[in-house]
Amino acid sequence: MLIERADVIVTSPGRNFVTLKITTDDGVVGYGDGTLNGRELAVAAYLTDHVVPLLTGRDAHAIEDTWQYLYRGAYWRRGPVTMAAIAAVDTALWDIKAKVAGLPLYQLLGGASRERCLVYGHASGKDIPELFDSIRKHLDEGFRAIRIQTGVPGLDSVYGVASSAAASVGGAGSDSRYDYEPARRSALPTEETWDTRAYLRHVPSVFEAVRGEFGEDIALLHDAHHRLTPIQAAKLGKSLEPYDLFWLEDVTPAENQEALRWVRHHTTTPLAIGEVFNSVWDYQHLIREQLIDYVRSPVTHAGGITSVRRIMDYAAMYQVKSGMHGPTDVSPVGLAAAVHLGLALHNFGIQEYMVHSEQTREVFGPTYEFAGGGLRPGEEPGLGIHVDEELAAQYPYERAYLPVNRLRDGTVHDW
Ligand SMILES: [Mg+2]
Repeated sequence: MLIERADVIVTSPGRNFVTLKITTDDGVVGYGDGTLNGRELAVAAYLTDHVVPLLTGRDAHAIEDTWQYLYRGAYWRRGPVTMAAIAAVDTALWDIKAKVAGLPLYQLLGGASRERCLVYGHASGKDIPELFDSIRKHLDEGFRAIRIQTGVPGLDSVYGVASSAAASVGGAGSDSRYDYEPARRSALPTEETWDTRAYLRHVPSVFEAVRGEFGEDIALLHDAHHRLTPIQAAKLGKSLEPYDLFWLEDVTPAENQEALRWVRHHTTTPLAIGEVFNSVWDYQHLIREQLIDYVRSPVTHAGGITSVRRIMDYAAMYQVKSGMHGPTDVSPVGLAAAVHLGLALHNFGIQEYMVHSEQTREVFGPTYEFAGGGLRPGEEPGLGIHVDEELAAQYPYERAYLPVNRLRDGTVHDW
């Protein structure tokens, strides 16, 4: 079975998505997600100009060989653009293979290791009352694990916090609760102001209040968004120990793997990192030295199912689990791939789940379902994705940027 053609679909039903559609000579179609938030067209061009011409005529079943051909063959390895493009190809080929086999993809990855993939939602509020409303809404919807982000006194806005109470509550089928998240559609990025000392003073009191109101059972997560130095991160982890977090995420900029040694040696709060990583090599020391507890790389940004499974098999040797990135810029195609892989992985940990907008779900037609605090991928052959290309064409690309973060004195800061 040969690849007859490959087409790149760029659509923007509320936010931008890059999807690769591969069609075989006997008419089987597979989809892969290559969306790179804020830099979407770089992946689209990489695919269209450099990868699609290589795919035509290749054996559609040769997934590993195609992965190696694109990774080693290009000479220029890794990087978010390359690895998102490879992910799109890899995922589309797995979709095809599963459709040909007549099985849901997770069956080809070893079968289900659990009933569903535990997910966490995003609760946020500018202050404690707003945050509590948002948490209650998530609990009512059935979430059993919730990421907690709040405003910081003295700062106008903080990434990860919805701008109004109504937005922070949101609702299933609406993405208004994530109004901080879709890359804002503007000619230039918005700019935010950050104060690490104010943040570090405030966060422990938030978790104390949440535990006081909602008790010990609910799994709580928090994202520091790469903003801390190692010693600040160590201090934060230590100060949050009484509140028994499921994880503390992205405490330091991810490039320096050694930074995590400082953090690890000072706190027992579990650590998650890696949403900006894109290969197993980015985890070489973090996993072998057991400096983290959860791997954040998603299928979409780390070379696809083939590649993330490789990372997770390495992680399994050290009791490190998955915690794949799942914001709304990972398309339903990428989320479907994550849920199939997560259902099969023995060392699955948790899946981030931000509900896509109604518009987005209409374009991609995913079959995965949320129930019992988790996601199941559905039982139809392949990924369980039905792209409506006519509808997708009605939403042309719009340039959008993620915000930029500055300290109070104007210095550009990590975010
Ligand atoms: Mg993060």
